[in-house]
This record gives sequence, structure tokens and C-alpha cells, in this order.
Amino acid sequence: MDDHDAAPPGPAVARGDVPAERLCLRCNAAFWSTGFGERICKKCKAQSAWKSASLSVGMRSGRRSAK
Ligand SMILES: [Zn+2]
Repeated sequence: MDDHDAAPPGPAVARGDVPAERLCLRCNAAFWSTGFGERICKKCKAQSAWKSASLSVGMRSGRRSAK
């Protein structure tokens, strides 16, 4: 059937997978992205990392101790 995982070789693929300066999707600041998968600057990444971690922990313990 259709193989969606297999991306055809082309300039578009290589173009998006090269290190380049991009704009962070969260704070819109220019930062050095090492690849296509990196769209958020390290600052925002670190922020969301500890934020989500502390949030999930707080929600868990809060919910449990609430009742
Ligand atoms: Zn950012």
C-alpha cells in the first residue's frame, strides 16, 4: 500500500534537514537550529521542560492529596 514513512529523495528533504538559523516558534527569537526537528530555541525548550515536569508532578500529588 502507500508507504508514507518512506520519503522520496529530493532537495526539499535535504533543505529542511540542514543546520540553519531559524525563528523560535514560541518566542520568535532567532536561534541556531541543528535540524528540521528543532523549531524551538533552547531557552524555551528548557522552560517548557521544567514547567511540564513540575506541572505533572504538582497535578499528581495535588489530586491525590485532595481526596
Ligand atoms: Zn524561544
